Amino acid sequence: MTQTVRINCMKCRHFYVTWDPKFPKGCKAYGFKTQGLPSQTVLASSGKPCYQFEEKPTKP
Ligand code: SF4
Repeated sequence: MTQTVRINCMKCRHFYVTWDPKFPKGCKAYGFKTQGLPSQTVLASSGKPCYQFEEKPTKP
């Protein structure tokens, strides 16, 4: 079965901006940088959705 769930890395506490123009988005949980959303890379390379999503704490 193909997973089509899009996990929103922007809301995840492991997401960060790398400032690397080639790979501007990064995931600290998996430890990689990518061009698109890290969760898409996880899905594409493992065939499974990201299981490390943790919602960012909201600022007071
Ligand atoms: S842990 Fe998952 S949801 Fe969070 S940034 Fe990494 S790939 Fe995205």
